[in-house]
Amino acid sequence: MKKIDHIGIAVKDLEASNKLFASLLNTPCYKIEDVSEQQVSTSFFKTADQKIELVAATSPSSPITKFIAKKGEGIHHIAFEVDDIHSEIIRLKGEGFVPLSEEPSKGADNKWVVFFHPKTTNGVLIELCQEIR
Ligand code: ZN
Repeated sequence: MKKIDHIGIAVKDLEASNKLFASLLNTPCYKIEDVSEQQVSTSFFKTADQKIELVAATSPSSPITKFIAKKGEGIHHIAFEVDDIHSEIIRLKGEGFVPLSEEPSKGADNKWVVFFHPKTTNGVLIELCQEIR
């Protein structure tokens, strides 16, 4: 894995949180994007080399709705940038980590993404992401 690409934060109200994080980070979000597959709306902030992704549900059946109901707003996942997402999935499965899907899907910010179940990673949802080239 190359580096932390971003930290994902689950929020209830994307518009309100965009204002809050713009004020906190002293920079506006540079992208707002819906990911229909995950039933979420996302926004991205740059902080030097890393990014913050705010994630809000767009439907009651979104994974984010369930996450916030269970744990409240807060850190949802840590995303690592990888060069070859397919070989990383194979490597991590070989180490006993459990992916939430067998194949990467198209995530926000022009990335292939795959998530690994928090039960195998000390309670932290892990995302791998690879730039779509
Ligand atoms: Zn993410």
